[in-house]
Amino acid sequence: MSAGTGHRARKRFGQNFLVDRGLIGDIVNAVAPRREDCVVEIGPGLGALTEPLLARVDHLHVVEIDRDLVARLRRRFPAERLTVNEGDALSFDFASLPRAAGSHLKIVGNLPYNISTPLLFHLADFADSVRDMHFMLQREVVERMVAEPGSSDYGRLTVMLGYRFVIDWLLDAPPEAFDPPPKVHSAVVRLIPRPVADRQAVDEALFARVVAAAFGQRRKMLRNTLKGIVSDAGFAALGIDPTRRAEELPLADYVRLANWLAAQPP
Ligand code: SAM
Repeated sequence: MSAGTGHRARKRFGQNFLVDRGLIGDIVNAVAPRREDCVVEIGPGLGALTEPLLARVDHLHVVEIDRDLVARLRRRFPAERLTVNEGDALSFDFASLPRAAGSHLKIVGNLPYNISTPLLFHLADFADSVRDMHFMLQREVVERMVAEPGSSDYGRLTVMLGYRFVIDWLLDAPPEAFDPPPKVHSAVVRLIPRPVADRQAVDEALFARVVAAAFGQRRKMLRNTLKGIVSDAGFAALGIDPTRRAEELPLADYVRLANWLAAQPP
């Protein structure tokens, strides 16, 4: 039972509620919303972030999957101030939220760790609509997000998020900052979309396919993982050694591979 709340934390929904007031304040200050901004919180839970966020904006949207928590939030906060969307953030269309001209879409959340990787991939699709995103995640996921080529943390998540966002590691959070405490350490990151002009892949779906194929077997040579996709002549034209492995290749080289592919006759 989360202390004094009468709610039993549900493991299947990744429920670890933030209880460290200092940290909660630091997160809200990092988000720094303007009153008119369109802020949406993923997984508001018992409202640890919801309440202080609501104090800073005219209106807040939340997406929560747990029906009991949805009912609690609707009882506690007036509907004119808080829109509670009951549902799965993995399929939520964040770009569909009503937004006044000039207001910024900001996404925030202490994310359920059991779905954080697929959720980050889903959220990456909204890079063109959001101003920024701030998330509490398992520290190990944050390490993957900011990893350098050649490290064991460097992977598909690093490349796909790094292509769309500038990522900053802002804060660390020990297990005691939550109730119940998770078994892992956590961290808060900020993701700011890169300007479209900096996203150089001619065909972004093709880029995503190349990255997925290469990291499908991250320790195998690119010549093998990209067999039938990029020819030896293609590697030679780009000056990329086909005996390298996915985990060694910088983001810019994935873009070059995808653009070479896009330029080939069908
Ligand atoms: N924001 C609260 C806090 O910081 O105390 C709760 C964070 S808790 C780590 C994750 C929250 O996400 C829970 O409220 C959980 O019910 C909710 N959740 C889990 N899976 C979800 C999903 N697929 N879509 C929306 N919310 C989800």
